[in-house]
Amino acid sequence: MAFRNIPILQAAELCGIRHGQAAGAEVRANCPFCHDSQPRLYLNTAKDVFHCQRCKASGNSITLYAALNGVSNAAAYRELAGDFDAPPVPLYNRKGPGTAMKPLEERSRIYHDLLCMLELAPEHRLNLQNRGLDTETIAANLYRSAPKKYGKCYSKAMYELSRKYDLSGVPGFYRKNGQWHMVTSEGFFIPVCDVQGRIQGLQVRLDNSGKQKYKWFSSNGYPGGTKCAAFLHVVNWKPGIRTYVTEGALKADIACALMEQDACLIALPGVGSTKGLEQLIRELGISEIIEAFDMDQETNPAVGLSVQRFYGRMEQLGVAVQPMKWNPSYKGIDDMLLAGKENRRMAA
Ligand SMILES: [Zn+2]
Repeated sequence: MAFRNIPILQAAELCGIRHGQAAGAEVRANCPFCHDSQPRLYLNTAKDVFHCQRCKASGNSITLYAALNGVSNAAAYRELAGDFDAPPVPLYNRKGPGTAMKPLEERSRIYHDLLCMLELAPEHRLNLQNRGLDTETIAANLYRSAPKKYGKCYSKAMYELSRKYDLSGVPGFYRKNGQWHMVTSEGFFIPVCDVQGRIQGLQVRLDNSGKQKYKWFSSNGYPGGTKCAAFLHVVNWKPGIRTYVTEGALKADIACALMEQDACLIALPGVGSTKGLEQLIRELGISEIIEAFDMDQETNPAVGLSVQRFYGRMEQLGVAVQPMKWNPSYKGIDDMLLAGKENRRMAA
């Protein structure tokens, strides 16, 4: 889905950041993260990004607004986009409001059937193996390559699914010339599941990923299409189990598989996206949680602030949070666990 660029100056002004005059594309301001008395925060109006020379906070209009207002990137985008006159520009011409999402049970059955009809390409299997997953876990988690538009798998899946189900209200599918289609991307699907293992939605790990590595399987803005929500992903929940919270569904799958002791992993879609987490924690009766977010929280103040907010929310809920720290040369818990496994293998 194509996002409209949000001008960095408007985002900064909405956050109450006072800035100087433009000198070329750069506008200087006082940094709201390190509260510098000198204007060493650079707002780049050509690229709509920010960077603080002092504390190294950096990001774009959306992450700036999200960090300073304690909301998810998606919510920040909605709030920011709503402040400007033009609506976001979707891939397709927007035709009326999107369809309401089908209930979880039905979505899960349809996504499950879809995945069962697809294949996992050798390069995607290798990618998953290189992340430390074994054959059984790869099979059990139903990772599948996204089908090529109108390819054999695509046509078969669309034929079978549209015969068996009404696909309206299922993110990723849309209707054109009286027929159902699915949005395609190059990459592989990652099922994002609830506590009972039902597939809430699908994420795509993109092959030729630039800055964006993952996207949701969503047909927002397509005719008859449906928007996907940013779902939480829960792996291996059992009452009383040690529970970790991290960011990203695939990372949680890998961490659960590589961990030496039985553990439950809850993945937020991003550090700042805690929507649904409080309800989940209450429902499961979780009183202790281990925080295992990426280590860039120590070097990127915008991320650090989101993590701090997470601690604040957990405190309000009465949940004890224990931070898990590791060598910051490994960014995520998955990288750290994989390195540990490799080291043990070498030592053996
Ligand atoms: Zn700063």
